[in-house]
Amino acid sequence: MTVPSVSFEFFPPKSLEGSFRLWDCVNTLAPLDPSFVSVTYGAGGTTRQLTHEAVTTIHKTSGLNVAAHLTCVDATKAETLQIAQSYADAGVRELVALRGDAPKGASKFTAHPEGFDSSVSLISALADMDAFNIRVGAYPEKHPEAADQAADIAFLKRKIDAGASSAITQFFFEADTFFRFRDACVKAGIDAPIIPGILPVENWAGTQRFAKQCGTHIPQVIQDAFANATRDGTTDLLATAVATELCDDLLQGGVEDLHFYTLNRPELTRDVCHALGVTPKVRLQNVA
Ligand code: FAD
Repeated sequence: MTVPSVSFEFFPPKSLEGSFRLWDCVNTLAPLDPSFVSVTYGAGGTTRQLTHEAVTTIHKTSGLNVAAHLTCVDATKAETLQIAQSYADAGVRELVALRGDAPKGASKFTAHPEGFDSSVSLISALADMDAFNIRVGAYPEKHPEAADQAADIAFLKRKIDAGASSAITQFFFEADTFFRFRDACVKAGIDAPIIPGILPVENWAGTQRFAKQCGTHIPQVIQDAFANATRDGTTDLLATAVATELCDDLLQGGVEDLHFYTLNRPELTRDVCHALGVTPKVRLQNVA
């Protein structure tokens, strides 16, 4: 089996304890030699400064290739581009460009009067800066706001045509969901890589809530298995097995890159990676 190239998503810490947890996460996963790691931008643009600090600190101290998430929410175009410029100035070369969700309390995304009105216009403006490799989000089970999957894929094509180099998907539980989506993207003329997003289930109740919000289907067999594992206190074991099997199916179907939503809990992601043959790289100077 091909050993995949992996990448990891973190969120910015909001407390001292959170900072230590993120640091532990980076230290645990960095030896797996990720192609990049990314740091999210809080819903509603709430972690602007924290994301910036986490990205630039990881960039400076770890040597990892770091991608900063950036959304259109609650900021003027000038403010958003200023954030991007400050990443460029700090030597950060990767962005994940998103429209973002509504701030807390609001039901749907509304553009700031002087802000970017969609991910496409954000991506175009970032591409014009000519400073970044730009990744975007993609939705194998369609975004909840899309009329249908064809419209969603047509919109993804606009994001790629605007200057994105690849897309990272929302999480899903069945490899066939990804393969159907990948085939439909190719048919729609999208030739950019689509990287599956994998969520090792850290918290079953939270995962179910999140899946409902995103429209992610949870097969009955997985629901039953987690109900039983919760009763028996073996959810970590099950989560590792479920994510490893999903990744293995994806690799057998030709996938070469996997992006893990770590939720700043590195153990499950590390164990899944090890099971897939992604093991710590020892630098040669440390061997002699
Ligand atoms: P878009 O692709 O711009 O829009 C989503 C869908 O809505 C489109 O596919 C299209 O079907 C429809 N749509 C939107 N605008 C139009 C239009 N003008 N015309 C026609 N159809 C339209 N959120 C955060 O707040 N912070 C993060 O750090 C973050 N990271 C994420 C990382 C990944 C990999 C993913 C998949 C999602 C992430 N999100 C994050 C969530 C994301 O912000 C939400 O899913 C949001 O609702 C959509 O953002 P987008 O850029 O993917 O949307």
